Amino acid sequence: MRHFHGSCHCGNLEVDYYTTVAAEDAAVRACQCSFCRKHDARALSDPAGSIKITAHDPEALERYQFGFKAIAFLFCRKCGVYVSAYRQDGENAYANVMVNVLDERIRFPDPAPADLEGESREDKANRHRSKWTPATLTLGY
Ligand SMILES: [Zn+2]
Repeated sequence: MRHFHGSCHCGNLEVDYYTTVAAEDAAVRACQCSFCRKHDARALSDPAGSIKITAHDPEALERYQFGFKAIAFLFCRKCGVYVSAYRQDGENAYANVMVNVLDERIRFPDPAPADLEGESREDKANRHRSKWTPATLTLGY
């Protein structure tokens, strides 16, 4: 399993991404939703991997939602950096990681556009559960 570390700009939000896929072979997506477009976000996930997100100061963790409100867009209130889209389903959670926050972001390929407009709530849920990465969110140190 490969490990990629990342963080927001001020370091409050840290991400540890574990994946079976080499950086150079990763399928990076440029989600075309109205939020991701504004960030020029490049997203990555691996259902065989895992993501550990740590919010050292939970007060500075924003969980922005819109549309179906099925997922939370996690970003740091101190420095404004968007680190992950996160879905909580009862005890399970699934997330993707924003390549731009990874320390080794330069190694990843250019993204392919992913236009998910018109996707139903159910299709979205199934896609997150099957394609996103099993995730945990830790609040505090
Ligand atoms: Zn920050």
